[in-house]
Amino acid sequence: MENDWEKKLTPEEYRVLREKGTEKPFSGTYNNHFKDGIYYCKGCDQQLFNSSMKFESSCGWPSFDNEIEGNKINKNPDSSFGMIRTEITCSNCNSHLGHIFNDGPTKTNLRYCVNSISINFKAK
Ligand SMILES: [Zn+2]
Repeated sequence: MENDWEKKLTPEEYRVLREKGTEKPFSGTYNNHFKDGIYYCKGCDQQLFNSSMKFESSCGWPSFDNEIEGNKINKNPDSSFGMIRTEITCSNCNSHLGHIFNDGPTKTNLRYCVNSISINFKAK
């Protein structure tokens, strides 16, 4: 129920996770965060990314070049705002995470561009 989400999340979290919003670039907690640990879905605590997958990008959002195995992230075509993009969502609770692009600088060529507000970090 979306109603329960409104109780569980702050208004800004709700806007991003449940209404597919985007946080302001360079504003998020994890944009320049490079500690060892695991990133979890803010909505349901499912593991999504390892800190070893995170790389420095200049786009203003936390960026990862891979995801933790096990189909934890769904990819959905997104043609909003006149752009053809691929949205990424948590496979467990359907929360919006961000978008994935094929222009990554590492050998996977992937760039998971994720809203800080969509994820939680826990140190190893
Ligand atoms: Zn989730």
